[in-house]
Amino acid sequence: MLLKLLPLLIPLIIYLIFFVAKSYLKSLFLRPSHKKNETMIVCYQCGTYTHESLLIKKFGKQFCSDKCSNI
Ligand SMILES: [Zn+2]
Repeated sequence: MLLKLLPLLIPLIIYLIFFVAKSYLKSLFLRPSHKKNETMIVCYQCGTYTHESLLIKKFGKQFCSDKCSNI
């Protein structure tokens, strides 16, 4: 009984393996490439909104540029 069903099950098993492998590869390639660090922070000196990646941190405060950080 089971041996007769086996040829029918093999393609299903192959499909399942393929499906799992595909979703695994997908998760590898579709990694979030950019983190959610789109925060805009106000410059302590001039009040300009500056992107987090461009900020200059000095004396525990955040500044938009070198000019502002050299008070
Ligand atoms: Zn500034």
